[in-house]
Amino acid sequence: MVTDVTASKFDVTSGYSWHGGVQSADSPLCYEGVSFAADRLLSVQVCCMPCEAKPRFVVVYGSQKGQAQSIAEGIAEEAEEHGLAADLSCLDQNEKYNLEKESAPVVFIVSTTGDGEPPDNTLQFVKRIKKKALPPDHYKHLCYALLALGDTNYANFCNCGKTIERRLRELGAKQFYPTGYADDGSGLEVVVDPWLEGLWSAITEALSKMASDKTPDLKENAENPATEIPDVQLNLLSLTDQQSCDPVSPSRSTDSKYASPPAIRDLRPASSSGGAGLASQRPSSVAAPKTQTCNDAELAASLTFSLPPLSESSLNVPALPPPFLDVTFQDVDSVEQTVGPLNRETLFEVPVSKAVQLSRGDSVKTALLLELDISAYPTMTYQPGDSFDVFCPNRADEVDNMLRRLDLQDQKNHHVLITLRKDTKKKGAQLPSHIPQSVSLLFLLTWCLEIRSVPKKAFLRALVEHTADGAQRRRLQELCSKQGAADYNLYVRDPSLGVPELLAAFPSCSPPLSLLIEHLPKLQPRPYSAASSRLKHPGKLRFVFNAVELPACPGRPAGRRGLCTGWLFDLINPCLVFPGKLESSGGPFLPKIPVSLRPNCSFRPPPDPSVPFIMVGPGTGVAPFIGFLQQREEERKEKPEAMFGETWLFFGCRHRDKDYLFREELEDFVSGGALTHLRVCFSRDDRKDEEAVSSAAQPRYVQHNLLLHSQQVIDILFRQNGSVYICGDAKNMAKDVNETLVEIIKSELHVDQLDAMKKLAQLREEKRYLQDIWA
Ligand code: FAD
Repeated sequence: MVTDVTASKFDVTSGYSWHGGVQSADSPLCYEGVSFAADRLLSVQVCCMPCEAKPRFVVVYGSQKGQAQSIAEGIAEEAEEHGLAADLSCLDQNEKYNLEKESAPVVFIVSTTGDGEPPDNTLQFVKRIKKKALPPDHYKHLCYALLALGDTNYANFCNCGKTIERRLRELGAKQFYPTGYADDGSGLEVVVDPWLEGLWSAITEALSKMASDKTPDLKENAENPATEIPDVQLNLLSLTDQQSCDPVSPSRSTDSKYASPPAIRDLRPASSSGGAGLASQRPSSVAAPKTQTCNDAELAASLTFSLPPLSESSLNVPALPPPFLDVTFQDVDSVEQTVGPLNRETLFEVPVSKAVQLSRGDSVKTALLLELDISAYPTMTYQPGDSFDVFCPNRADEVDNMLRRLDLQDQKNHHVLITLRKDTKKKGAQLPSHIPQSVSLLFLLTWCLEIRSVPKKAFLRALVEHTADGAQRRRLQELCSKQGAADYNLYVRDPSLGVPELLAAFPSCSPPLSLLIEHLPKLQPRPYSAASSRLKHPGKLRFVFNAVELPACPGRPAGRRGLCTGWLFDLINPCLVFPGKLESSGGPFLPKIPVSLRPNCSFRPPPDPSVPFIMVGPGTGVAPFIGFLQQREEERKEKPEAMFGETWLFFGCRHRDKDYLFREELEDFVSGGALTHLRVCFSRDDRKDEEAVSSAAQPRYVQHNLLLHSQQVIDILFRQNGSVYICGDAKNMAKDVNETLVEIIKSELHVDQLDAMKKLAQLREEKRYLQDIWA
């Protein structure tokens, strides 16, 4: 039976009108073919079928920042539309799933964090499946599909997903759909979207195979799948990459997760030639980007405006994420005094004992050194190469703005009570674990939520429901639509546009607090590498950072400072010592900051001091190597008779006189013997014409200097069993150095590109090619 239903207005409060269906108590319905205009549900074609038990499958996820979780939740929510039922669990919820006995297909969505580590909530699962005692048929009954999320800017791309997949295979599990490897560096959706589109037919096929054959050989089928997904480009090859990334190609688009609203023309220019009329047609409530002139605005698309064809296009927008939280406020008698993050058991509130600006005032980047006094915490031990987390709050002015925007200033000291909506349609809905009960609203916005996070498309989709102005609503729809993917990347993702900036650009959008709690991830601590050795500075921990400045862009006319580095800078500014001035002796006015250790067990100097090693650390990437060399200096003093291998440091910065960090200390390391070879280059210093002819004659970047010392690099790595350490910028430097090392291996060892990459991957496997890099 097909029923045609015409509805009138959106139900903004329920939030279900876009992707919803029509249901009567006695006749559950499935539905399809929902079409929409901007604020009108045009028609719903409904097909009825009797209520019956749906075939089930399992979705498990491991997520650090919520991306994998939200994809997993999306799958669980969409299952019903495909006539399926999904059981959703986080991998740390052992009580909710049982892979040892699971007979339904299992879909894994797992991200990777840090230097290829599993997310916190996946650590125990990985530990369990890695147990050597497990027999090779442990998961013989299991058939699975896996989507791995990672970032090719970092080493060990998708390492957690690959580890889980390798163990599943080793333990006899069968893959029913090729694994997707999504790269956050180039946009997760490039792989995630087609992977999800192909998933449904793969699950259905797996289920029917399992029904017809109790012991299906799905692996064979999966190697030649009916549904295909695109190959994933890997920038950093490792042995595991080669083993597990089978080529896969694009799927037929079924578009099952999208509803298609037709274009809305009433508030937009009528045609591509109608640009001249745009300014006059712009509704007054839409904020014009302040960085554009009026003429520019007429011609150029921006965060808040689009041009044809997008502005005239029909849109495929994601399904509306079902709301799942209720928030109430409780008035309290006394105002809470909590001034720091909650997880105090694992935190140390340590005083800053020194703050020095390392770069000159006219340098492009401001580099600062902070010394923390950890002498009161004997358990806070660290080794050179370790990093630690700094917990910083959201900015008070941004929290105030948010309170104003939510119209909740008067409730800021009230306790926030969060409960699950009884009627929620969200599968596996849970209270967010990073939101403690009974904290004030002010505390919640200050310490718990990353309010500056870049809104995901699902969040944009949800915001549409709370936006009054038609043009703004349409633009939000565009930004989360399939057709607007390029605009989303250009105006939201690439400039790291935060939620406060988005709300400022869309003034008629007034989301409820519950929506922010549903969509904003946990406020993450920021890691920093230790730039000292405890042997040289007992009771002290030093680190170095650049004060991050995000440039102006449409939606962020004044630019923005990094959250943590901006906070640290303001905190220590009054006691900052400048280059060439007397150092501060520390004092009662120096602030305290909350930190916790996060040991890095592999980024350590070689345990055998006679082994030579190479360090590549331009800019603040030199930080851990200062710790390495201080340690070496002290060890040499302690054991003057011992054999110490050669040490090489490749450092680079813009200008010799402005940002040559630790210049004196590095030169002292050389004269004292802890550093055998210091090779420094300056990328922006004027050079004499004859020197500028070739970068080989006058190296500009660290990789040029490495090339100049190709023979020594090969000798250390391939003849003396030495190591190479890279630290610093993941986006450009680490990739350039990686490519240069491949070139060096090719030319010095006379091997082709593939063999050179394999040799480098082998070094990585042996933990002799180590990276501590950040974007
Ligand atoms: P945030 O507010 O978090 O903003 C940074 C974000 O802005 C990033 O997501 C980035 O993608 C984005 N962004 C930055 N520039 C731009 C731009 N031009 N356009 C658009 N978006 C942009 N940092 C150090 O300085 N020293 C260290 O020793 C150090 N060690 C680290 C060790 C590890 C293991 C890791 C993972 C990171 C390390 N970092 C280090 C990085 C550090 O943790 C922070 O990420 C950095 O200081 C920025 O933090 P923030 O809160 O100030 O910036």
